[in-house]
Amino acid sequence: MTRVLVVEDEKNIRDLVCLHLGLEGYECVPVGDGKEAMALAAEKPFDLIVLDLMLPGVDGVTITRALRRHGPNRDTPILMLTARREESDKVMGLDSGADDYLTKPFGMRELVARAAALLRRARAPLASPQSDGRPVDIHGVELDPARRGVRVRGNAVDVTRQEFNLLYLLASHPGIVFTRERLLSKVWQEQSFVTGRSVDTLVKRLRKKIEVDPAEPKLIVTVWGDGYKFADLA
Ligand code: CA
Repeated sequence: MTRVLVVEDEKNIRDLVCLHLGLEGYECVPVGDGKEAMALAAEKPFDLIVLDLMLPGVDGVTITRALRRHGPNRDTPILMLTARREESDKVMGLDSGADDYLTKPFGMRELVARAAALLRRARAPLASPQSDGRPVDIHGVELDPARRGVRVRGNAVDVTRQEFNLLYLLASHPGIVFTRERLLSKVWQEQSFVTGRSVDTLVKRLRKKIEVDPAEPKLIVTVWGDGYKFADLA
């Protein structure tokens, strides 16, 4: 059974979302409060989390960041609900860790379609070539695709699935420039809603985890006007 945590303080929206997810055969766990959602998600794994941005107590971005750090929902896709277009922009710009967003008011068919797309992506095996990829060891960055393990300068680093996929793609092709479009198609695959900015956001997050000084990145290098590359072997 596919379990979806639905965090929304407006009861009518929460009920409607759960009704439609239920019609798709998903088990909906409705919660109206941010703190309760955090406690629940710290305990139990979900297949998908539908998360309102503006909640009493703890907001959606704070919840997402907490979930992404550790716990059973570190890789669970998060669909953020926002009240306005500007909020959506902020969510996606803010390296929040959400995978997609919907701006209110949204249609239930749209919600169901986005939910299904996120679930499909989460269930797909790691995109090739990662799934059968060879380990990579370059410039102090060691990547083990079989375990999705990352060590940087000898220390284990926690990364999400998306972060791993992006890092692996770049690090297994040192010196090769990848445009944002190419990275989008490789790392996000069929997710047409993501933009070049999603790539920038993910790179920023990765740099914080692997670079000595994220402001002066030496491993994931920006190629102005083009995209990104992993530092050359030389
Ligand atoms: Ca709200």
